[in-house]
Amino acid sequence: MKKRENKNYNILDHIRIEGGRITTNSEDPNVGYDIVTELFARLFDFSFSYSDNQYRKEFLPISEHLEKIDYIVGVKPIANAYCNSYKNEVKIELFTISTFCQLSSIMDIVEKMQYYGQNNNEIPITTLKDIWDDKQVHIKGAEELKSLFNRWADVSNRWDLFDLFSPEIIQDTTITALRILFCHEMSHWHFSKFTDQTQELMLGITKNGIINTISSLKEDGNKKQIENFLNDDILKNWAEEVTADLMALISLKNTVDPNDFFIPTALYFSLLGALEVFEHGYTGLILSTTHPPAYLRDIIVFNLFAESLGIPSVEFTCTLGGPWFLFDYFFRCCLHQLRKEALGIE
Ligand SMILES: [Zn+2]
Repeated sequence: MKKRENKNYNILDHIRIEGGRITTNSEDPNVGYDIVTELFARLFDFSFSYSDNQYRKEFLPISEHLEKIDYIVGVKPIANAYCNSYKNEVKIELFTISTFCQLSSIMDIVEKMQYYGQNNNEIPITTLKDIWDDKQVHIKGAEELKSLFNRWADVSNRWDLFDLFSPEIIQDTTITALRILFCHEMSHWHFSKFTDQTQELMLGITKNGIINTISSLKEDGNKKQIENFLNDDILKNWAEEVTADLMALISLKNTVDPNDFFIPTALYFSLLGALEVFEHGYTGLILSTTHPPAYLRDIIVFNLFAESLGIPSVEFTCTLGGPWFLFDYFFRCCLHQLRKEALGIE
């Protein structure tokens, strides 16, 4: 990750706020725009790129093309982010930021896990067992998650940034998680400028990762459903998403202390899972032709990321990737608890 080289470039000239008001508590519709622009400038103001031979010639020098990108902050009460590489636009909804902040605030357990993660980078098996077995922790997490879902639903009626969170006090964990989201979108942009050869090579790796992860799933209903759903086109779409996740993580990992990196990573994937449930309810597996189900995407990227480091997944789970794994596990237990409640099963 590097700072932009062009001294005349000012990110603030390239950020646009679109689609509504940030607060309804003021007569002036512009209240909060400066705060939000500054916040997004903090998120967006770094660039990363790959070696020239990976890009198609018409996009070189890539730095010039990077400077053409418009960063759009959406102000609708929806959680969404996308990249339109043809129009050179990357858009992130402000609501996504508030959902990230709220989600990170429920995770008291994070501190515990951060501590475990720093313990010579090894997680004692007893610690893993503590978290696996601690039903009270899962129930508490589930309650907090439920109240978050209720607040998110409420926001659709009355969207006010300043009621939801205070942009000035966003934690570093949340900022890193949001950077992963931003880099995911930027990775779509870079990928679209790559040569066919580079694209094929990357998609080949992630397609294999997807197939291997699916075949390693337990022989339960999900596995069959996923295998029946998947065809070549869907596999390609899913591979593009997984590639963007992987590119984002690999490009960010050297800019962040490893002890502070994997919890935000888990937070990012947990948010994807939370939004899936928020949107579709507790119906079980959600299959989409464009994106892998959040829980599966998480496992696929976890495995591929370990592979990119040259570490077997099992070893990665017990070392650097421990906090990622534990946070995921905690989050899945919370969702499972909510699902049991919603469906009235024990
Ligand atoms: Zn994407």
